[in-house]
Amino acid sequence: MINNKRRIATGVILINFFFNTFLNSATYKNLKCNFCKNKINGRYITQEKHAYHEQCYKDHIQLRCDHCKNIISGKYNLKDEKNYHQKCFKNFILDKCDACSKPIEGEYVKDSWGNIYHNYHRSEMPLCESCNRLISKNITDGGYLINESRSVCNICWRHVINDKDKIKNIYSDLRNELTELGIYNLPKTMPIILINSKEELFKISKIPSSNGLQGYTKYDYQTIGREKINENFTIFILSNLHEINFRAVLAHEMLHVYLFKNSVPLKESLVEGFCNLGSKYVYNSNLENKISELKLESMYENNHPEYGKGFRIMDSELERYGWSTLLKKLDNY
Ligand SMILES: [Zn+2]
Ligand SMILES: [Zn+2]
Ligand SMILES: [Zn+2]
Ligand SMILES: [Zn+2]
Ligand SMILES: [Zn+2]
Repeated sequence: MINNKRRIATGVILINFFFNTFLNSATYKNLKCNFCKNKINGRYITQEKHAYHEQCYKDHIQLRCDHCKNIISGKYNLKDEKNYHQKCFKNFILDKCDACSKPIEGEYVKDSWGNIYHNYHRSEMPLCESCNRLISKNITDGGYLINESRSVCNICWRHVINDKDKIKNIYSDLRNELTELGIYNLPKTMPIILINSKEELFKISKIPSSNGLQGYTKYDYQTIGREKINENFTIFILSNLHEINFRAVLAHEMLHVYLFKNSVPLKESLVEGFCNLGSKYVYNSNLENKISELKLESMYENNHPEYGKGFRIMDSELERYGWSTLLKKLDNY
């Protein structure tokens, strides 16, 4: 999951302002205006022990709203050393919610895309499972509900993967790219089955605590003596994943296939971490898309002992040795 940064609106100070002003008659001779320094005859105004001509006071001393330029009396808002009527402040100075367009006061969310919105929308509208934007008319132009449990926004919807031919092409592209890294022996074609719900994927995989699971590789084979025959691989992946996400999940599963196919005796607890290097490879190759950046971030923040910590162990090994040496060392871990 990607954490949205929550903060409280700052820089807004509500203060009570009392005009210490009186309309007086000039009873003292030689009274001078504190603004123009000229003599005062007749009515004048005092504020904080200084006297002013009425006009000097109105034109130069009295507080004015920095938005509408009109005179302020009573309570007002102060921001960045500027003064505003409460109404002007609320309607013109406060940031507006990207979901409902109303001014934002109190707690709000700023997402990784720069959208800000009232915190309470979180309980009214779902987040997109690909990009984590709030699915709403103004931010994402709405979205789709899949299997009554998964939400995809309309921005991501254009990029989701469901098409069989497209999947075939993605597999063969990835196979070429992975082969170049030294990940040999991947089957030329691969049955890839799309699954609509996470529950269904969980039933097929039987992987415990699989809430974040998006793909699964099924492997079966027969043996004659010690030799494996009739090896079969099937990859299951959630339907309607954003293309970048789909590629990352597929690359992860292809590394499982690599381990099975080559009978690599990698330590059980490091298997998922190693396979996540495939996802990292995909995200790293698509860094121009913000989704890659967000997904990478969450991989490095993931606390799962295998998918998170195991990944970071394998990742530092990869950074140290590079792909070809790492692949040769896998049975040493
Ligand atoms: Zn004056
Ligand atoms: Zn104003
Ligand atoms: Zn709002
Ligand atoms: Zn989205
Ligand atoms: Zn896995």
